Amino acid sequence: MLSAPPLAVGEAMHQLIAELFPICRSITGDGVRQTLARLQEHVPLTIHEVPTGTPVFDWIVPKEWNVRDAWVKNARGELVIDLRQSTLHVVSYSVPVRRRLSLAELRPRLHSIPGQPDIIPYRTNYYREDWGFCLSHNRLEAMEDGEYEVCIDSTLAPGALTYGEYFVPGVSPEEILISCHCCHPSLANDNLSGVALTTMLGRRAATQRLLLSYRFLFIPATIGSITWLACNQAATTRIKGGLVLSCVGDRGPVTYKKSRRGDASIDHAAAHVLRHRGVPERVRDFAPYGHDERQYCSPGFNLPVGCFTRTPNGEFPEYHSSADDLDFVTAESLADSYAAVTEIVEIIEQNRSYVRLNPMCEPQLGRRGLYHGLAGRAQLADVEMALLWVLNLSDGGASLLDIAERAGIHFSLVRGAADMLLSEGLIRAA
Ligand code: ZN
Repeated sequence: MLSAPPLAVGEAMHQLIAELFPICRSITGDGVRQTLARLQEHVPLTIHEVPTGTPVFDWIVPKEWNVRDAWVKNARGELVIDLRQSTLHVVSYSVPVRRRLSLAELRPRLHSIPGQPDIIPYRTNYYREDWGFCLSHNRLEAMEDGEYEVCIDSTLAPGALTYGEYFVPGVSPEEILISCHCCHPSLANDNLSGVALTTMLGRRAATQRLLLSYRFLFIPATIGSITWLACNQAATTRIKGGLVLSCVGDRGPVTYKKSRRGDASIDHAAAHVLRHRGVPERVRDFAPYGHDERQYCSPGFNLPVGCFTRTPNGEFPEYHSSADDLDFVTAESLADSYAAVTEIVEIIEQNRSYVRLNPMCEPQLGRRGLYHGLAGRAQLADVEMALLWVLNLSDGGASLLDIAERAGIHFSLVRGAADMLLSEGLIRAA
């Protein structure tokens, strides 16, 4: 049955997000390493380092970027922009700079959002060697004419792309893939909420007896999934279903974007969970825009991997800005996302087909203590309806999820009914 969201899990996730929030991450570099090292306190993930220059399909693993300091000072030597105040202040992958220049010369390198004058945008220039700063529009407007001193103490040099992987073997070699990106700096919902949820799901998998195997990936967006896919092409054939997790901590309702296939078991399981949460309209068709599902669902792989979010990327005004902060994500929403994703993977884990051992008419359930003989369908308890549906549709074809969908009953009840019928010897696995 559906249980109340485990708030303690949400609180633990929020705490983890707060711990990781100050780290200056990018698609490569020590920020990702520090993040993964912290996560190793929660799950024994393996850290992989893929050298700069490694070809990965049409891409090449980029140079490694690290930044130690970045600031802009005015003519009086006062700090106007300072990386130590916010990791968003420097454009990610900025090349090193140390020079004096006028406001007019500096201005094209300063990024703000005029429509949201209090917040700092998040910008990157990963694949071109350039530099810049981000700041609130109010602060930009307050900058006086005159000379400014600019420092970006960074390195962009051969190194590695770092990602984390945690594999939990089950009875079956078939895998569930859970993937999140860990390349954004101090952004709570887009990035760290997915990292925290993936971590907690990893902890949960480690303590369960599982039929399926589980693979948890903590990767830099786009280049990380491309790199993992390039290095693990053979393993992808074992992926039975997967989820990309991002933006799972805001106050919006849950959303599921289907895999490119659209009819994979993960798509049906997620749609079932969202319908029973009263948000069926939040199931969306696949689109080649969003997070790493774009790579998992590229035509050469076409993996059954969907994307689970609350408010999807780009659909909340705080997206990719300093407003996506620790107050923007709540323990309640994080706990609710944990509960929803757990339900989805449990359906994949437990879904199977059964066959009635004696399919001629209904078996006498009352004699077996399974039926209370209430007259009339309207009075039948859900569990008794679930028993009748499983008995009727267990012909070896329909799965428990198919039955749950056709009956309009939550999967967990149908699963429970099947367990009762199994123990009474009325059905067997197909
Ligand atoms: Zn993002």
